[in-house]
Amino acid sequence: MRVSRYFMPVLKENPAEAQIVSHRYMLRAGMIKQQAAGIYSWLPLGLRVLNRIQQIVNEEQERAGHIPLLMPTLQPADLWRESGRYDDYGQEMLRIKDRQDREMLYGPTNEEMITDIFRAHVNSYKDLPLTLYHIQWKFRDEMRPRFGVMRGREFLMKDGYNFDVDKPAALHAYNRHMVSYLRTYERMGLTAIPMRADSGPIGGEDTHEFLVLAATGESEVFFDSAVTELRLGTREVDYDNREEVAAVCKEFTTLYARTDETHDPALFDAIPEDRRKVARGIEVGQIFYFGTKYSEAMGATVVTADGSKVPVEMGSHGIGVSRLLGAIIEASHDDKGIIWPEGVTPFPVGIVNLKQGDAAADAACEGLYKALAAKGLEALYDDREERAGAKFATMDLIGLPWRITVGPRGLANGVVELTSRRTGVSEELTPEAAVTRIAEIYAGV
Ligand code: ATP
Ligand code: MG
Repeated sequence: MRVSRYFMPVLKENPAEAQIVSHRYMLRAGMIKQQAAGIYSWLPLGLRVLNRIQQIVNEEQERAGHIPLLMPTLQPADLWRESGRYDDYGQEMLRIKDRQDREMLYGPTNEEMITDIFRAHVNSYKDLPLTLYHIQWKFRDEMRPRFGVMRGREFLMKDGYNFDVDKPAALHAYNRHMVSYLRTYERMGLTAIPMRADSGPIGGEDTHEFLVLAATGESEVFFDSAVTELRLGTREVDYDNREEVAAVCKEFTTLYARTDETHDPALFDAIPEDRRKVARGIEVGQIFYFGTKYSEAMGATVVTADGSKVPVEMGSHGIGVSRLLGAIIEASHDDKGIIWPEGVTPFPVGIVNLKQGDAAADAACEGLYKALAAKGLEALYDDREERAGAKFATMDLIGLPWRITVGPRGLANGVVELTSRRTGVSEELTPEAAVTRIAEIYAGV
């Protein structure tokens, strides 16, 4: 993409309404535009990151054997009357009437609808296990929408639902989700710690929230600092192997890590003092096992191997897709702007032409742009007639992890400059070597 042809309305001034750094940088980098309280348009740069995050979520869900579908945003109220949640949900639910005076709602979550799909089509244990998920817009009329996409009213969520014949199978699904989520967040460059939590209106017995540590987080969290060292890394996990998956979960949930809702001071005090941490965190996901809460209320049953009819065992599992942009920026920025991890960056690399109009510099930039494209890497090429300082400031603000700087002086020696946004370290290389280096960096992403 050439900056001269792109739509990236960068702001020079700090917007007054933004209280936290992620909101400020998303507005300044021209990623989002507020349309009403807690409701945003996703401008091209923001959409690219949102799409990258969705892609990672999809890949990791499918790797775990979970199946994508797509349910609508609008739902009939009657489904929610069956589960009893229509009245319970309160003012957070946006209620709508259509022209026939039928009661509808903009879905805040989809337990009822997925249970309705299940009961219409599945009735035998032979069709289980089954996990269906979608990535769809949700609406919750939050009392205090704030912090940009972190607490929106309309927001994008991945929500998945498992259906299993018995409790051990459902707990395996729970564990499978935990492992797939750990991998998902790591690919986004995040450390998201699973913490024992409270189930709230979804209901149920077992639940963990995934929290990214950040001073601006809305949750108070208590943990053993050793938990922040744990990494899944590139190890292969066989998602069908119950023991193996359970062992990974055990590894990640044995050290103390809880939100304030489930905090136990006695257990916390047993941690060696230098590892006892109280901090703030951003909730980027939550998994629930709730058994037969919805299947009993809505008559979703399966016939088991011995011929008996039982309500299907369920759980639900959510990732805050749009909130993740904010969380990633909170965790990865400096005073010049965003620092995108390679996994989610809107463009893998930026090209800055120091002297637009100089024949050699223009030709070298075009050459780099095409050579990167040939390797499947779409660079953002700043080809505007602008001061070098302004081009650097824009690149730093929008946070591409790598920048190639091209100018007549370097070219006279046959080199361009490759700079890491994270470390600020630059090195001079030939244009060919720079392309090879970038391709190597992204080969493993
Ligand atoms: P919170 O406690 O932050 O209000 P929640 O526990 O009500 O969230 P869940 O029902 O667990 O939310 O939804 C799954 C995920 O969706 C959350 O972990 C969070 O990342 C995201 N999410 C929830 N509410 C919002 C919101 N208003 N704006 C953006 N993302 C949200
Ligand atoms: Mg939650």
